[in-house]
Amino acid sequence: MPRLIDPFQRTIDYLRVSVTDRCDLRCTYCLPKGFKGFEEPAHWLSHAEMTRLVGLFVALGVRKVRLTGGEPLLRRGLGDLAAGLTALPGLQDLSVSSNGTRLARHAAELKAAGVQRLNISLDSLDAGCFERITGRDCLGDVLEGLREARRVGFAPIKLNMVVQADQNLDEVDRMVVFAMEQGFVLRLIEPMPVGSTGLATEGVDLSALGERLAARHALLPQVLGQGAGPARYWCSPDGRMSLGVITPMSQHFCASCNRVRLGVDGTLYLCLGQNDQVPLGRMMREGLDDAALTTAILAGIAAKPERHEFRERPQQVVRFMAQTGG
Ligand code: SAM
Repeated sequence: MPRLIDPFQRTIDYLRVSVTDRCDLRCTYCLPKGFKGFEEPAHWLSHAEMTRLVGLFVALGVRKVRLTGGEPLLRRGLGDLAAGLTALPGLQDLSVSSNGTRLARHAAELKAAGVQRLNISLDSLDAGCFERITGRDCLGDVLEGLREARRVGFAPIKLNMVVQADQNLDEVDRMVVFAMEQGFVLRLIEPMPVGSTGLATEGVDLSALGERLAARHALLPQVLGQGAGPARYWCSPDGRMSLGVITPMSQHFCASCNRVRLGVDGTLYLCLGQNDQVPLGRMMREGLDDAALTTAILAGIAAKPERHEFRERPQQVVRFMAQTGG
């Protein structure tokens, strides 16, 4: 079985694919209001092109694929794309990250297409705070989407909450209680300085906060298997709810990085926090065959940076998270 192994002996078996860089929200730490720098539609990979590139990664040992964006549910025919990907021999896990605004309409279609897992962004349960962070008054749509996703059988569902010192830190306890009552996995995330928006966001040291929340809500340390991702977890005594903290700033976890990202135009991003990239989409459109594209993927992995430098060089990644595919 071929494998993608980088110079730091990390096996790369996880690919995040941005299916669009557009989003219907403008979260303060992600995309600026009035942003005009979206990729030209002519450069968006078609479903067939995406499936071809993902197929090459799967042939090289990638086992997990996440569809992300921008907001992936804005991409027309996402269910068809997902169904095509789940049919790739060797792919074991297809998941979707979404802001949930359109989930009520699409959850059943995603489930039917073979999507196994959902991560939904939810930064606040207060309608006013939600609107201040996202730029839209649509918390109700997201909550309805979550209900529908559960109804069609997604379980567990992960909620991603980016914790900002001056916006929603005081809502963290309420969110823990909500996740306990509803049986969600709640993941608290430190904002990263990607783009001017991320750079301007005031984060919180979540390692310490995670400990305090676990003590306050009587959560137990949870040990997950390999491949569980970069979060540190606790769970409720009944096992229905988990709390995770993702701490790229206070404790970087690059030594266990197992992922690379594909932008909507087929650019391969080798590290979220660095600018190293391979224009796979352009190379494909120039007529490179699968063998040549595979060689380009291998050369990229051989140049994967060891780690991000968000602390040492916070200003160096100017592209926004929605452009890389978060
Ligand atoms: N729209 C989808 C969603 O909301 O999940 C997928 C794309 S979004 C860019 C993916 C994740 O990145 C979201 O959970 C979002 O909160 C997170 N994100 C965006 N900018 C970030 C930043 N500067 N630091 C940390 N997380 C960020």
